[in-house]
Amino acid sequence: MGANPLFDLDGHVAVVTGGNKGIGLGMARGLARAGANVALWSRSQDQNEAAAAEIEALGVRALPVACDVGSEASIQQACAATVDALGRIDSCFANAGMGDYYKPLNASLERWRRVLEVNLDGTFVTLREVANHMVARGGGGKLVTISSITERFGAAKQPGYAASKAALGGLVRSLAIELARHDIQVNNVQPGWIETDATAPMRDNELLSTTVVKRTPARRWGETSDFEGIAVYLASAASRFHTGDTLCVDGGYSIF
Ligand code: NAP
Repeated sequence: MGANPLFDLDGHVAVVTGGNKGIGLGMARGLARAGANVALWSRSQDQNEAAAAEIEALGVRALPVACDVGSEASIQQACAATVDALGRIDSCFANAGMGDYYKPLNASLERWRRVLEVNLDGTFVTLREVANHMVARGGGGKLVTISSITERFGAAKQPGYAASKAALGGLVRSLAIELARHDIQVNNVQPGWIETDATAPMRDNELLSTTVVKRTPARRWGETSDFEGIAVYLASAASRFHTGDTLCVDGGYSIF
């Protein structure tokens, strides 16, 4: 028995923002292993090129694109460069994000806004640009946001981060309604505690790290490879009637 064609991404073009490491690179690897060509949009072009070389070794095309999702113009340029080089965009994983730690009562509006600018405005503009391309070319598509379990639980000293991630659920449900008539599915992935550079300081904190593992029924931190399968499902024909949803990938943390 061969692979199920529902999950076949041969000839598909995926965009992963923040795709040069961490969860984004994990999703890019999964998409490439299913046959997709992948554009990696992040700020560090050196890191984009290194990640693209790794993806191309899987036998697909990879396009490194320098992009800061905190800038509308940068996202528009990245979108145009991707369509120019790879011909089309079939799926987009708006994964780029940043955290910032501060006590809510001392925070300046400027600091609050910077996180929202990247995590929320950046996601909105990314999806808007890609959705316009998909609607204009016809034939449907897939849009995915990456939020966080802080969407449910909040996060100490990270009010802007948790608020920006919580807003993604509303954005996704709204776009899912608007875009269903164009056969575009829009979903949100909610990671739990995952081993990436962003969480290195938390894993270095022994008390916190042990508490996370004890509280997680899977009894481990998540790995970037845990995002390969969900990316393929959400990019593929297998999820064609699945839209406006939040899929939690946290080893059971949020139900325990
Ligand atoms: P990571 O390893 O630090 O990777 C972050 C990625 O985002 C990098 O590729 C980075 O590349 C890119 N990026 C950051 N700011 C950007 C900007 N302004 N424009 C474009 N790209 C930008 O982090 P991660 O843990 O994989 O996180 C990925 C996503 O998952 C984030 O949205 C995060 O909030 C979310 N998440 C993570 C966890 C976790 O436990 N790790 C849990 C819940 C949610 P450059 O620096 O080159 O731009």
